[in-house]
Amino acid sequence: MVTVDREIVGKEFLEMALERCIKCSTCKYGYKNYERSCPSGEHFLFESYWASGRIRTIRGLLLGDLEWSKDLIDPIFACTTCGACSDSCQAPHADYIVDMIEALRELAVQHVGPAKNQEMLVSRCDEHCNPYGEDNSTNEDLKKKHNLPDKAEWLYFIGCTSNYRQQSLRDATLRFFKKVGIDFTLIDEHCCTSPMIRTGQLSIVHEYMNYNIEEIKKTGASKVITSCAGCYRTLIKDFKKYGVPHDFEVYHSLELVEKLLDEEKIELNSEFNHTVTYHDPCHLGRHMGIYELPRKIYKKIPGLKLVEMKRNRNFAWCCGAGGGVKIGYPDWAIDISKERLEEAKQTGASIITSTCPFCKTNLQDASDKYNFDFQVLDLMEIIDQLEINIKE
Ligand code: SF4
Ligand code: SF4
Repeated sequence: MVTVDREIVGKEFLEMALERCIKCSTCKYGYKNYERSCPSGEHFLFESYWASGRIRTIRGLLLGDLEWSKDLIDPIFACTTCGACSDSCQAPHADYIVDMIEALRELAVQHVGPAKNQEMLVSRCDEHCNPYGEDNSTNEDLKKKHNLPDKAEWLYFIGCTSNYRQQSLRDATLRFFKKVGIDFTLIDEHCCTSPMIRTGQLSIVHEYMNYNIEEIKKTGASKVITSCAGCYRTLIKDFKKYGVPHDFEVYHSLELVEKLLDEEKIELNSEFNHTVTYHDPCHLGRHMGIYELPRKIYKKIPGLKLVEMKRNRNFAWCCGAGGGVKIGYPDWAIDISKERLEEAKQTGASIITSTCPFCKTNLQDASDKYNFDFQVLDLMEIIDQLEINIKE
């Protein structure tokens, strides 16, 4: 057995790649229905761009059959880590394919990587604590504006994309939390580290995770709530995976909406008379198994007609933004979203929604670039437009 001799967090996943894949190619298409499912393989059309090829790449590198070279950068990094391959593969290692790809990236960063521009995710964080390179917001202004306390039961972890690119989603979420009266506050956040983890650049990951945990602890909060699918996955799965466990309960804002509706603590009183289709974010759907919860909420919005795209739930076509693709391969990222919008068009919907600011950004960019006349909205932004009756 060959072992990985470097200090690699994902070492066990690399070693898994040595013996488990049988090259059956089931990972290339939606399981049983044979729909296009892998944005990377479908675009580049070489074996090395599918999950099976990436596993062969790991094997080749570990066994010494393949030498490191810059030619490996695209096959390793041009993947959205959407997890569609994991969903289709029927072998015992299926659940770990994305972990294998991320571990391969971790190793690649030490030899040849990352892909072009992805290093900016780290350098911008070094200067500004967020991967967008925007002046760091301490969130003190928001705390003042919404009259938030220093200590609270809940902590809203806004996330960099909502705070610096999708402020309407952030503000809709803040208004909802105020409206329903939960006791919450904010911290001066550092990036949740998702972009660095996805691109194998781990230099600041532990420091940032520890920083965020310490800041949350200062508020006394026992519950962390986020409106970002990427932050949600990272806070629940990756803090633990990277050896920085915490004991906060973590919620997506949708889970709070559902709880309040189920317990009949809120009532949605006005109508939203539009036909809407829902794009499952990979980090909420395939990565965390949340498919029905948002649909349940859409169905409770008076007047809203929910129509499904052909590829939905675990078969959803990725929006194209994840895995460092948005910064490393920006044009291709938008083309992946274009395919999603074409599919959405076939439903007759006028609005495409999601539950992730990163999906929203990329779908909006594609809609603008290719002149789709879609309104792109997050579910929280739809809820923000409704009259909400708070019950005692
Ligand atoms: S990753 Fe899974 S589905 Fe893909 S070739 Fe290997 S065993 Fe088959
Ligand atoms: S994670 Fe998505 S893009 Fe990457 S190999 Fe799997 S299906 Fe393809």
